[in-house]
Amino acid sequence: MLCALNTGGEVVFAFNAMRGGRYYCPDCGGVVIFRKGTKVKPHFAHKVKSVCLNNSAESMAHYNAKYVLAQQLLNNGYQVEVEQPIAQIQQRPDLIVNGKYAIEIQFSSIPLEVLQARTIGLEDQGYEVIWVVPQPKFYQSRMKLQQLQSVCVNPVSRRLIT
Ligand SMILES: [Zn+2]
Repeated sequence: MLCALNTGGEVVFAFNAMRGGRYYCPDCGGVVIFRKGTKVKPHFAHKVKSVCLNNSAESMAHYNAKYVLAQQLLNNGYQVEVEQPIAQIQQRPDLIVNGKYAIEIQFSSIPLEVLQARTIGLEDQGYEVIWVVPQPKFYQSRMKLQQLQSVCVNPVSRRLIT
């Protein structure tokens, strides 16, 4: 996970964490270990495996994208919340920026209905939703969009974020 709480209850991002520090899971309060290796970007992991929501499997590509996005947004003065549960709709968008934008990073294909339901849920709560999808492939210098990519093109701005 990208964020943990320190002993003072403050949110600490993995890129600001220190080895040997005491950190806790924001969801269950369990002890988490800060890990910093060569292959994976720095992250927190539960010391004891639990049924915590924050244990959900996440691909390395997904975590890395979330890590880099959150770090860059914070460095540019944005306020960033990570996987903040929104109780009314039972969703946890990857990032919420300035309390206004919900960023969802989606690298695997999901049913269109799920994507629409998540978008509508967040929009109903007043968020502007931004989907981040894999880079499209090119065939003979033509961009070829998969369904996930084509449905994530913003219909107004015609922008696709990859
Ligand atoms: Zn937990």
